[in-house]
Amino acid sequence: MNHPKRLYAGVAALALVASGAVLAVRVWPGGEAPGSSAVAAEATPTTTPGQLSTSQEAARKKAIDGLLAQRSAALLKGDLKGFMAAVDPKQAALVARQRLLFTNLRKFGFTSLKYATADAFRPVPSLAEKFGSSTFSTRVMMSYQIRGLDPRPVHTDLGYTFMHRPAGWVLIDDTAADEYLSGDGHHQPWDFTEISVVRRGAVVVVVDKKEAGLGTKVAQVAEKAVKSVRKHWARPWNGAVLVVAMPQGDVMSTLWTTGTGDGWTIAAKAVTLFEGEQLGRPVGRPIGSRIVVNPALRKRLDKDLLVHEMTHVATATLGLKAPIWAVEGLAEYVRCRSIEDDPHWTVDPYRKQVKTKYLPKLKALPSSATFDTNADLAYGSSWWIMEYLADKLGEKKLATLYTDLSQNGESILKKDTGLTTAQLVAQAKKFKG
Ligand SMILES: [Zn+2]
Repeated sequence: MNHPKRLYAGVAALALVASGAVLAVRVWPGGEAPGSSAVAAEATPTTTPGQLSTSQEAARKKAIDGLLAQRSAALLKGDLKGFMAAVDPKQAALVARQRLLFTNLRKFGFTSLKYATADAFRPVPSLAEKFGSSTFSTRVMMSYQIRGLDPRPVHTDLGYTFMHRPAGWVLIDDTAADEYLSGDGHHQPWDFTEISVVRRGAVVVVVDKKEAGLGTKVAQVAEKAVKSVRKHWARPWNGAVLVVAMPQGDVMSTLWTTGTGDGWTIAAKAVTLFEGEQLGRPVGRPIGSRIVVNPALRKRLDKDLLVHEMTHVATATLGLKAPIWAVEGLAEYVRCRSIEDDPHWTVDPYRKQVKTKYLPKLKALPSSATFDTNADLAYGSSWWIMEYLADKLGEKKLATLYTDLSQNGESILKKDTGLTTAQLVAQAKKFKG
């Protein structure tokens, strides 16, 4: 109550949170960046027709997959020489990038890691010109599990170019085909500068190596945020989460604003990972997520913001059908509860704002369009709807309802609460809190 600084923090974080959240479970790798999946699917189906026979193509695939298998085995063993064996030693910049990749990847601790070729790309003209007719560009899928984090393998794509030399196939480029990849392909935390990986409990934080101190700080805050989520999300969650807080704007994502007009600054995103990936698009069930912090805000990251995003992480694997008001409302509910767990803090100003400014205008459950055009009203009202449901059902049944919504969609509402959507809106508007 008497803690103006914290009050401000609560409200400020909210403003920043707005819309980050919209993307949080709605956007998956490849869904956003220009030149990503849709383009890739169109632009990448074949190599030049007639260039190789089917059996020659199969032999090439077998040889390159063999090379990639040696590479992943070498990486897991910590064998730099083995990892670099496939890399053209004549190219200093490529060699430096690949050595850095090895150094960074070794910091994570993988329980499994595999590389395999996927679809072939259209030849990159500059490379074909420089390296000749055997030049071959392909999507390479990296499937991996980070120790203590990923329950099953997750996937990301790379665009690698090889050429054939008398001694065999050799990697000659790792960036020129990036435009054909999914939105976060070759934009993983290990693809930029040297990193520090800080582990604290089940939390893993990735920062620039020069900002290792920031990693420790973020890990402390993240661990507290995990506790808050576990307190108010009444279903089992192991709290294992990877938080990326790097200075580069294009790590895993390139868009840090959203909404219409001037839009919003997104403070952080929860990026969902899926059990499969084909042609740069996610396939199958969601199996986990990463939190990526807006670089501009990484040094001012507070617990409240992480609580919101971690609620998305804790619930991401339940299913994709929860309506947006439930997704964002729950994240805001947990965030506000966690603020008020500290008796010195309150969200009263926010409460007042929602009751006087937003609820009177609320006509229906907020939709994606509401979040796009009036994020304040959408987040505030969605929060209040969840406050009402938590009051009516208790946190345990609220978690059951949310799980049902994630698996079945909004149509389950009546069965679980006895309310139609219109009745829910009417009750939430009347709810005093
Ligand atoms: Zn959110």
